[in-house]
Amino acid sequence: MSDKGVSDDLLEKVVNLCKRRGFIFPSAEIYGGFRSAYDYGPLGSLMLRNVKDAWWYFMVQARDDVVAIDAAILSNPAVWKASGHLESFSDPLVDCKNCHERWRQDKIGDSCPSCGSSDLTGSREFNLMFATHVGPLVDESTVAYLRPETAQGMFINFANVLATTRKKLPFGIAQIGKSFRNEITPQNFVFRTREFEQMEMEYFVAPDEADQWFEYWCEQRMSWYTGLGISESKLRLRHHDAEELSHYSAATADIEFLFPWGFDELEGVANRTDYDLKAHMKASGVNLEYFVPPGNEAEARRFVPYVIEPAAGATRCMMAFLISAYDEDVVSGEKRVVMRLDKRLAPYAVAVLPLSKNEELMKLSRKVLHMLQPHFMCDYDETQSIGKRYRRQDEIGTPFCVTIDFDSLQDNAVTIRERDTTKQKRVDLASLLAELKTETDGFTV
Ligand code: ATP
Repeated sequence: MSDKGVSDDLLEKVVNLCKRRGFIFPSAEIYGGFRSAYDYGPLGSLMLRNVKDAWWYFMVQARDDVVAIDAAILSNPAVWKASGHLESFSDPLVDCKNCHERWRQDKIGDSCPSCGSSDLTGSREFNLMFATHVGPLVDESTVAYLRPETAQGMFINFANVLATTRKKLPFGIAQIGKSFRNEITPQNFVFRTREFEQMEMEYFVAPDEADQWFEYWCEQRMSWYTGLGISESKLRLRHHDAEELSHYSAATADIEFLFPWGFDELEGVANRTDYDLKAHMKASGVNLEYFVPPGNEAEARRFVPYVIEPAAGATRCMMAFLISAYDEDVVSGEKRVVMRLDKRLAPYAVAVLPLSKNEELMKLSRKVLHMLQPHFMCDYDETQSIGKRYRRQDEIGTPFCVTIDFDSLQDNAVTIRERDTTKQKRVDLASLLAELKTETDGFTV
């Protein structure tokens, strides 16, 4: 991103653009909204899907050692008892005695961020899990919880996955899905919300190989973000010290992004040891050990694997990609806003634009659109001047515009205009698809 013209109010600019162009809306806006809930609009739902697809490609499709699951959000509460979430998935809550706002103590220091008063209550632990009742009876016996992380779905299915896939260590189980946390102070747009989407992978390894796989996944995950266009200068890997480590973790590193308010967490990579599998073994009575048959010289072994977990938030990542892509520059003496999104993340890969609202041009344009739609997410726009339409596509990050003009009717050629350079090139209709596929580096859908 060029620093020129992009100022401190970056967050406000991105939030406004998200609302104005249909990326992200405050939920239930017609009822005055609902704190910390957001709806992903026509463009945002496309981009969020692209973020998840990019993760999926990197973590599942392009590997032969990771399989996927899609586990239930509501499950047996015994899961959360065994994992320790019922007891200790909590944040320290304090009240300001002056203005009565509530805060997460570990995030605020000694005074109330709202009124500045240092007259705060002592902190008490507040469990972040959302409880509900399953079935028509509302009593203690029907309490269930919305999952606060997707990870437990992988642990409780460890034996099923092992039995059905016959995977050998090391291997991973990946999942993308919604998680829910009753955050004390949701804030910073979609950075911290009560309902969000996670992209998590549990990588099961032999205990003596855990350290090396932890390093490997820290490095892999950093490269995912840089590979999708976030500059290295805006990323850092921060290792937790002993005091900060979760109860289950032997080592954790946060991948942090330079948000407008400073470096903050995008993803946690943790060595969760054998904590979770052992806890579920103990509570369920089911053996979750891994069995290594006897080999040359070696005796058979049984052990509980260690787990390395890269855990990212899809919605939080999408926000980081938007912030990192936001840019303003000047084209032909005119200021423009341009989202320099990676081609795989932009809501639309291609916009098809007839030069004017001429019957013949629109007919040919629709033909082009239908030819491209099976391969790319396409937009079609025939309103206003072509310059304005280019600006509109730049602002939402569309990497390529295909323009159909009067010459096209004669020579069967169209213009491809590239977002970042604004360069244009003329290509035959017959080679348009191949040309765009090369430009987009082979990604489809
Ligand atoms: P924090 O300490 O900020 O509350 P955490 O360290 O507990 O978060 P993890 O449990 O490691 O978070 O969750 C993994 C990832 O899930 C986070 O890095 C983040 O990207 C995402 N995530 C967690 N909580 C939220 C939330 N409330 N809203 C949006 N994304 C979240």
